[in-house]
Amino acid sequence: MSVLSNFFIKNNSCSFLSSVILASSITPSPTMSMCSTFLPQIPSNFRRNPFFSFPIKPLFSTCSKAFSSQSSKENESPARIGFLGLGIMGSPMAQNLIKAGCDVTVWNRTKSKCDPLISLGAKYKSSPEEVASSCDVTFAMLADPESAVDVACGEYGVANGLSPGKGYVDVSTVDGATSKLIGKQVKATGALFLEAPVSGSKKPAEDGQLIFLTAGDEALYEMVAPFLDIMGKSRFYLGDVGNGAAMKLVVNMIMGSMMASFSEGLLLSKKVGLDPSVLVEVVSQGAISAPMFSMKGPSMVQAVYPTAFPLKHQQKDLRLALGLAESVSQPTPIAAAANELYKVAKSHGLSDQDFSAVIEALKPQFQPSRKE
Ligand code: NAP
Repeated sequence: MSVLSNFFIKNNSCSFLSSVILASSITPSPTMSMCSTFLPQIPSNFRRNPFFSFPIKPLFSTCSKAFSSQSSKENESPARIGFLGLGIMGSPMAQNLIKAGCDVTVWNRTKSKCDPLISLGAKYKSSPEEVASSCDVTFAMLADPESAVDVACGEYGVANGLSPGKGYVDVSTVDGATSKLIGKQVKATGALFLEAPVSGSKKPAEDGQLIFLTAGDEALYEMVAPFLDIMGKSRFYLGDVGNGAAMKLVVNMIMGSMMASFSEGLLLSKKVGLDPSVLVEVVSQGAISAPMFSMKGPSMVQAVYPTAFPLKHQQKDLRLALGLAESVSQPTPIAAAANELYKVAKSHGLSDQDFSAVIEALKPQFQPSRKE
């Protein structure tokens, strides 16, 4: 993909990566370059603690210079990063930035969720507007299109605090139209905009192993790349705003259907007298093996659903993916059927359970009673 090759060439000259390579006296090998083309990431052996073992100033001063219209002396100071939305995903992402030594300011609708981050060294502001006005770049990880628009464009929203030289990166999962709307409001302030939804769940967020699907201002993409690399293992630049959202929705559409199908399989195996735990093992060894089945299968067999990805968000993503499909007249009957199942699960109070709880919607107590 040409955008990716494009990205690699540019990223290879990024001062952060250069400093990592220099400091470790490693010349990038052709193999490393080739891997980076497909998985543009800092090798994991360099990623875990480069922010402590390498001088961090060059990284931050590079970013600060890029963001600010300040004097060159001020450019020496670290970039100020805002983080809005501290739910299951936002909290560990912000935490990783703080642990890497970044200057982070947080805000969350429910203030108490800021407290653990404040105790780790984060600053706090009482509105998205104040965060955006006091930071060079602001990230947002919000629940859905409505909250993303509200936080970005509403009263005391981000747009009121933005100005030329600043950047806004929305990492929430929303539809393309929402992202374009937010992007337009952000750009009207003179600031730069990047959509960057993530693939990966609670654990990858904690481990800094997310995959960023970005689109929008390429200059901002390059400026925030070092921060994306703290929070993630790879990043894709996909062009115009809307492409990141579309990629994310397609991925989650597949995931939602896979989970629904897996649920049917587990219940069918049990009903015909097989041990569903053995099914999980069989699946894990064959061509349809997926980390998701191995991770979620054992707890699904026990009917426990510790929340990593809330079911309500999976249903939201299916709904948005179906809208995307409809906009281009692409038939998606499997996803449509899966969506109905998640809706049933939601109507039975499973919204805040993990999305694997969709299996409950297939159990007899949730099925419409049949009269013979
Ligand atoms: P979450 O735990 O439900 O957190 C949602 C966040 O949005 C919270 O900070 C919440 O604030 C905030 N919020 C909700 N409505 C709001 C409103 N009207 N105004 C302001 N803030 C509002 O969700 P999550 O799992 O972190 O997911 C966040 C986003 O990432 C979603 O778009 C989701 O689809 C996507 N995502 C999730 C995963 C995953 O595995 N969890 C993986 C990839 C992508 P409060 O704390 O005040 O409620």
